[in-house]
Amino acid sequence: MTPDLLAVASATKGFLPDDEAAALHDAALSAGPGLWLEVGTYCGKSTVHVGAAARAVGAQLATLDHHRGSEENQPGWEWHDTSLVDPHTGRLETLPSLRRTLWDAGLDDVVTAIVGTTQQVGRWWSSPLAFLFLDGNHTEEVAQHDYAAFAPHVVVGGLLAVHDVFPDPADGGRPPWNVVCRAIDSGAFEEVSVTGSLRVLRRSSDS
Ligand code: MG
Repeated sequence: MTPDLLAVASATKGFLPDDEAAALHDAALSAGPGLWLEVGTYCGKSTVHVGAAARAVGAQLATLDHHRGSEENQPGWEWHDTSLVDPHTGRLETLPSLRRTLWDAGLDDVVTAIVGTTQQVGRWWSSPLAFLFLDGNHTEEVAQHDYAAFAPHVVVGGLLAVHDVFPDPADGGRPPWNVVCRAIDSGAFEEVSVTGSLRVLRRSSDS
């Protein structure tokens, strides 16, 4: 990451500590070129870290979000940010923030924003993935859905990164941890690294 890109990422709203951001960037750098997918864009903080790596290795990054915020981002919830509310809908609206982030980062030619729910996009997604970053809605239902919809498209040798993985329930919600356990128990993925709540796995087989 250049100092300019680090400055853009650190000025972007989001929930990604610096050590996890660096680990995410490093993991992405070790992925192959081709198509990468990030699930859960928000304002694009992690998108800058992954997108910079995509540029470096010649990959294209698609980043998927409905841009209306998860439950915890809505009015009255813990992670609500009133400055991100669209007065027209009364809902969170993070797409304009993402567009500004990508502009500032100079990543418009590397990153394609996909606006929709993972349920919508999962129905038609068919492209092989060299890198998949799961950081979308953290309910059990959606986290499991997102794994089932997109992880099968990760090619053998490709990487699966999962954010907000907390083995101890005292530290955070269980669904991302359950997704990591499912991936490893399937026999298709092996753990590569753990940095804070970021887990990186590699697809080792087609099983
Ligand atoms: Mg996250």
